[in-house]
Amino acid sequence: MSVLVYAESPMGKFKKAAYEALSYGKKVAEALQTDCFALVLGNADNAADLGLFGAQKVIQIKNAALESFDAAVYAAAISEAVKSIGADTVVLSHSSTGKAIAGRIAVRLGAGLVSGVNSLPTSVQPFSVQKSVFSGKAIAEYSFETSIRVISLLGNAFPPQKTGAPAPVETMEVVLPASKVKVLETKRVEGTVPLPEAEIVVSAGRGMKDPSNWGMIEEMAKILGATTACSRPVADAHWRPHHEHVGQTGLAIRPNLYIAIGISGAIQHLAGVNNSKVIVVINKDPEAPFFKAADYGVVGDLFEIVPKLNEALKQFKASAH
Ligand code: FAD
Repeated sequence: MSVLVYAESPMGKFKKAAYEALSYGKKVAEALQTDCFALVLGNADNAADLGLFGAQKVIQIKNAALESFDAAVYAAAISEAVKSIGADTVVLSHSSTGKAIAGRIAVRLGAGLVSGVNSLPTSVQPFSVQKSVFSGKAIAEYSFETSIRVISLLGNAFPPQKTGAPAPVETMEVVLPASKVKVLETKRVEGTVPLPEAEIVVSAGRGMKDPSNWGMIEEMAKILGATTACSRPVADAHWRPHHEHVGQTGLAIRPNLYIAIGISGAIQHLAGVNNSKVIVVINKDPEAPFFKAADYGVVGDLFEIVPKLNEALKQFKASAH
């Protein structure tokens, strides 16, 4: 029995989420008094460095079928690795990739699945984990009754911990099904940290009045090294691209800092952002529901406040150097 952590390596590079999953898997393995292994699919730079975050060994599957992402093929590869090493706990990131494959892995292995876990198991006998439910208004605890369990870990819920040393990398050969999908084109958003990984997010809503006013939001994001987001009506009106839409029907994020500008804070919006560590709200309506979820609030006209805040942030940054 062991813990197997799938470390995502899009374009051959590990992202923070992979290190978080590994550090989490290492702690789970310690609680279960067993080994923690990392699994890499396809090529990846510095696979041995996964040892720094807790992997005792890195298993790498290289196969032409893994060159472009197909959830069915990736799930088959992970399931084969689980069977081959006899793992009983599978940890992966609750990313778009993780969401697409976790259920498939569980079905293939006859395993229980809890997705979007945000903390270490509360007990290992029975094996129980927690996740937040009802848009973050409650915490549910799940106990596994299956011999194999699959857990997907929410981003930014468990910090990466560098505690080990580079680990040996072993190649595993598996027979994989042929992909039934063909990727014709991939368009990547360049230049900014993708929203699910962003530590700081500057988000704006319909209070901005017009898409031409977004310059001040982009400026704030640039000063803070943040990623921009928006409310749903803003994306629906094509003021901003749909990949920026956060909330119940958009992305669920949990950055360290979420700055909400001209957003009312409807429950459907909060569902995607209320796990942020610190929330700052700027809204002219003191009764805006967002203030109830805010750690810091500014009541006032965003068209006055945001430019002043940007100037103050610039000065602060300049004085800090
Ligand atoms: P508004 O509600 O119009 O609020 C604008 C805010 O800006 C107001 O609070 C106002 O006081 C403030 N404001 C205006 N002018 C200024 C100014 N000059 N200075 C400062 N503040 C100002 N919404 C999402 O965001 N994400 C979702 O995933 C989502 N999913 C949904 C799913 C369903 C099934 C449904 C029914 C709705 C969903 N919605 C979602 C929509 C949601 O209910 C709200 O309608 C939406 O979040 C409101 O967006 P908003 O706050 O930008 O706009």
